[in-house]
This record gives sequence, structure tokens and C-alpha cells, in this order.
Amino acid sequence: MVPVATRIGLGIDVHAFAEGRPLILGGVQIPHGRGLLGHSDADVLAHAITDALLGALRLGDIGALFPDTDPAYKGADSLELLGRVAALVQSQGYRVADVDCVVMAQAPKLAPYREAMRGNLAQALCIDVSQVGVKATTTEQLGFEGREEGISAYAVALLQSECDCLC
Ligand code: MG
Repeated sequence: MVPVATRIGLGIDVHAFAEGRPLILGGVQIPHGRGLLGHSDADVLAHAITDALLGALRLGDIGALFPDTDPAYKGADSLELLGRVAALVQSQGYRVADVDCVVMAQAPKLAPYREAMRGNLAQALCIDVSQVGVKATTTEQLGFEGREEGISAYAVALLQSECDCLC
């Protein structure tokens, strides 16, 4: 990969609601009647950030790195997978400078859990909490999120080279 001072990545993920599952977002278990369906813990927010980092590194996507056909990732803690990709960022000579994300969910209300999510994500990424933004919005009852069929998450990540020789 051509060394450049900054790299940007975008990650998007969607998971459907399912009965009998815990709802985990940004590593926080949120009380709700249903959770999200997935091979791992289905943390849609952690997955979007993971894909944003992999996008910035041009290293494919979360499905290629942690395939859902691999029993090793059944019920996996997505924050741990995010931490592994953060280590990959470092091994490629970059550091995570900033991350921002949006969760689109009609319900439940996520504002009470925002700071806990930011804290968990910052810890997994080994960065300060001020470098992680988490926002949430409803979709005004529109689309699959609005019909409460699932939740989507969008994330952008900015990486900076550890090498001072680049400008
Ligand atoms: Mg996912």
C-alpha cells in the first residue's frame, strides 16, 4: 500500500431483530424485548466501525476477516474483533485519529446508553473517548428501521500515519 499521511474508511452494517436475543450495541447490553440476529453477538455498531477501519486499510471487510461460516466466531464478542482490527491498524503503521458513527433505530431510545457505548468503543480501539462519536436517530417510522424490523449503523474512521516523514 502506498504510504499516505491520512486514510479514511466508511462502514455500514444492518442486522434484523429476532426474538430471544440480547440487544448489544457498542458493547452495551440494552434492555429491549428483542435483540439482533447474527452469528456473532450481532453488535451492528461495532461491525460498522470495524468495516470503516478495514476500509481505510483497504483490507477487505469484516465478513472476509471473520467469516460467519467459521464456528470460531459463533457468539463472538464484536468489541474483541474490533480490538483485533485496531491492532491491525497499528501493524500497518497507522493510528486511529477519529471515529464517528450513527445508529438508525426506531426503538429503543439509545441516548441513555451513548456514553457507555463511547467508552466501550474507545477502550476497544485504545483511543480517548473524545475520539469516538456516537449518534442515534429514528427514521420517522420509514424503512426497515422505522418498521422496527432491524437496526442499521454507519461509521467513518480517520487513520493517521505513525510516520512523521509523510505529509
Ligand atoms: Mg454485522
